[in-house]
Formats: sequence, structure tokens, C-alpha cells
Amino acid sequence: MTEKSNLDLMNYIDGEFVPHSTEEWLDVIEPATGVRYARVPLSNPEDIDSAVEAANLAKQEWGALSHKDRSVWLDKIADGLETRFEEMASLESRDTGKPISIARSVDAKRSIANFRFFADLLRGHSEEKFEMPDASNIVVSKPVGVGALITPWNLPLYLLSWKVAPAIGMGNTVVCKPSELTPMTADLLMRVIDEVGLPRGVVNLVHGDGPGAGSPLVAHQGVDLVSFTGGTSTGEKVAKSASSSFKKLSLELGGKNSSIVFSDCDFESTIAGVVRAAFLNQGQVCLCGSRILVEDGIYESFKLSFVEAVEKMRIGDPSDEQTELGALISKDHIEKVMGYVSLAKNEGGKILTGGKPCLPSEFEGGYWMAPTVIENVDYNSRCSTEEIFGPVVTLHPFEDEMEAIEIANGTRYGLAGSVWTQDLEKGQRVSRSMETGMVWINTWLHRDLRVPFGGVKDSGVGREGGRWSMDFFSEPMNICLKHD
Ligand code: NAD
Repeated sequence: MTEKSNLDLMNYIDGEFVPHSTEEWLDVIEPATGVRYARVPLSNPEDIDSAVEAANLAKQEWGALSHKDRSVWLDKIADGLETRFEEMASLESRDTGKPISIARSVDAKRSIANFRFFADLLRGHSEEKFEMPDASNIVVSKPVGVGALITPWNLPLYLLSWKVAPAIGMGNTVVCKPSELTPMTADLLMRVIDEVGLPRGVVNLVHGDGPGAGSPLVAHQGVDLVSFTGGTSTGEKVAKSASSSFKKLSLELGGKNSSIVFSDCDFESTIAGVVRAAFLNQGQVCLCGSRILVEDGIYESFKLSFVEAVEKMRIGDPSDEQTELGALISKDHIEKVMGYVSLAKNEGGKILTGGKPCLPSEFEGGYWMAPTVIENVDYNSRCSTEEIFGPVVTLHPFEDEMEAIEIANGTRYGLAGSVWTQDLEKGQRVSRSMETGMVWINTWLHRDLRVPFGGVKDSGVGREGGRWSMDFFSEPMNICLKHD
């Protein structure tokens, strides 16, 4: 246990901020400096029990509201977040080490958009009908019950709001368990929810780590569905625990995504797009393109321009508007990422740039690493097939379409990918052969919230996004009405 800090977070249960039931805390560390600035409760199963009980008590009344009524609540939450836009962005930047410009344009903006988007979708919701000559079938969307929403540290509120909005929108009540590494904006969301006066027990939040809070939440008999976003090995544990009691389950897991660059691409915009796909959020986005496959004909020129562009990226103070790359999330994580760089060297890899820590002088103690480009590792090597989740990419030449597809599919992950070519027919053909849930052609992370989001193979089970979220967070019930 550490000494008391001035910023000690609390759980939010049954419409109240409440202390957790143990004396255990975890320091919240600012990744840019390595300095503690708050403490997060290490809650235990007793706290989970209280939160699940509150959610169960609230579910009948909340589930009985119309979709339209609930859409009004989502808009109120979006309004509340909007008034705190700058606070949201700066908390996210401080908590994760990401540049403030990204925290604004990606995290804060999208967190608000998630509530607005699902509010709109709810307003447009109508029951499906299937007519028979002598009967009508009416498909009613009922809430599932109590949802456990578990989220990672890389896009904290962006991902939490992506679950909370459709979950409560479809009439469920929820218990959130955000990452213990980045709890600040989850706390902000609870403050907003409290301010707007959402009925008590509809949204509850328990802070804590995986073993103490996440695992008992997933296993809880009072929980009916689990929406989990995080690493594949954690997802495996979650799946085992949830399946024994037949909980509805969505798993959004890790990725190792390929950017496939053909000789006929638009060179300049491809360089910019592939750099962005590789290093956004310091490469800590599940969708990042960290295996870059380049057609033989342009491999050397692409390599030179790519490395040049990477070396121009501005790394430094996350609160500076001009910064493009911030710090990595934690000491453990940077050690893991650097471990892959050592591995690449052992696997015969050549470091073209980066490959080492890089501490801006005012941030000694933080978790900083230069963006790293590696070539010469086999495309079946661990570095090229395992998720590193940091600012490290490998380059691989390929001969033709067939080989590009073979390399791209040669990993256990199947989340996303991108294809860069001016031949749009070829782009589509290659995309359709990729074993992933999503592919972008000549762009990356260009998101329409209506489309399905999720992966195949070890990248997850199920889809969220648009009507796929509405389906996941509800149970369809058919009522068959016989005519006279
Ligand atoms: P993680 O799996 O370590 O933790 C995710 C969450 O699960 C945290 O809240 C953690 O406390 C909790 N948790 C840990 N053990 C648990 C258990 N046994 N039972 C229940 N909950 C438990 O992941 P992370 O390091 O926070 O995030 C990085 C990972 O998330 C990467 O693999 C990344 O690819 C993945 N991710 C995937 C997506 C996607 O949409 N597919 C999006 C973002 C991140």
C-alpha cells in the first residue's frame, strides 16, 4: 500500500460515489514522467457484488422505458461530455501519454460521438415484422439484463463509451470495469452521468485490476452479458469464465495487421497513410498496421521515404499541440516492446531507425521510445506475427498479389488491414482474400460508426458497431400473432 494521495478515485455504485471495501490502492502513473498523480481503488468481489446488485435492481424500470426515452438520456450524457471536452482531452492525454491533439481529435470527439450516434440509432429503431398469410410475426428487441463492460488502456473513454451507449440504449444496466492503468476519464464519465441525473443503478463502475475486479465481474451469476475489449490471452480467460454460465459474449481482442503496398499506389499519400497506420497513439491501437508489405518494384524507394517520414515525426511533450508521438503506457509495456526489438536483432533483423529509448530531457522517468522500423526479419518470425502494440514495425518485400495475401494471413490474428493501390479492382480482390474483420483501401482508420467492427481468428468473437451493437446488446423475441 502507498501513502494517501490527494486524488483518490472512488467507485460509482447505485448513483453514489462510494469507497471500495479494501484498503488496497494502485498508483496511477503519468506515462510521460513516470510520476504518480492519483490512486485507483483495487476493488474486490464484495464491491463487484454491490455493483451487480444495484444494476439488477435498476434493470426492470430502465428496461421498460422506450428506445426514444433512452435516446434522450444518451443525448444528455453527450451534452455533459461536450461541456467538459477540454478536461476530457487533457485527462486522457495525461493518463495515457498520448499527444493532446490526438486526445482531442480521436478520444474526446469520438466519446461524445458514440453517445450521439447511438441516440440517433435508437430514435430510428423500429420493430421488424414478417407477415404470413394467416399471421404476423413481430420481432421485439428486449434488453439482455446486466452487462459487464471491460475496457483496455489505449483508448479509454472512446472504448468505454462505445459500449455504455448501446448497452444502456438497448435497455440494459451495466457495471463498467475500466483499465486500472487509465481510470481518469471513466471517472469523468461517472461524474457526468451523476450530474445529468441518470436513474441510479443504470451505470455502475468498479475500479480495479483483472484478478480482483474483472474476473469476479465476468464470473458473477448476476451478470447476463460480457463485452470485453483487451488482449487475446485475457480474452481467453474471459471466454472460459463467461461460457460456463452461458453469458452473451463479445470479445474485441488483439491484432497484428498488415499494410499491403503495391507498386501502383499513389506514393506520397501512401507513405503518409502507412506512417499514420503504423504509429498513431505510439502504435498502441489494435488496428495499427505494424507489418508493412511492399511490392518488390518499389521496396527500396518506399523504405527510404518511409524511414525519412518516420524520423521527421515530432516526439515529446504530450501537452504540446505540435507533438505527434507521446509516451508508452507503462514501464512494463516499454520493456515488453523493447524485448521485441532485441528479439528482432536475434532473428537477424536490421534496425533502420529507432530501436532505443528516447527521453525528451524534461521527461526523464517517463516511458519513451523512438519509432522503430525493422527489416530483414522473416515474415513468419515472432516479431512479424505477434502483437507488439508499440511503435515498432517490420518491413517485408513481396513478389505478387498471392504472396502478399499469404504473408498477410500468416498470423493468428485477424482484426484489420489496409491495401494501397490505384487499381481498385485489385484492392477489392486482395481485401476479400484477407482473413480479417476489416480492411481499408487507400486509407486507414476511416470509421463510419454504422459498420461492423471486430475481428476473426484470435482477434475476437462477434461484432460491435451500428446495428451489430444494437443486436449484441439485446435479445430478439418473436411474437407470432394468428389472424382471425
Ligand atoms: P488487458 O487484456 O491486459 O486488459 C483489458 C482489461 O481487462 C483491463 O480492464 C483489465 O483490468 C481487465 N482484465 C485483466 N484480466 C482480467 C480477467 N482475468 N478477467 C476480466 N478482466 C480482466 O489489455 P490491455 O493491456 O489493457 O490492452 C491492450 C490490448 O487490448 C491489446 O492486445 C489490444 O490489441 C487490445 N485492444 C483491442 C481492441 C479491439 O477493438 N479489438 C481495441 C483496443 C485494444
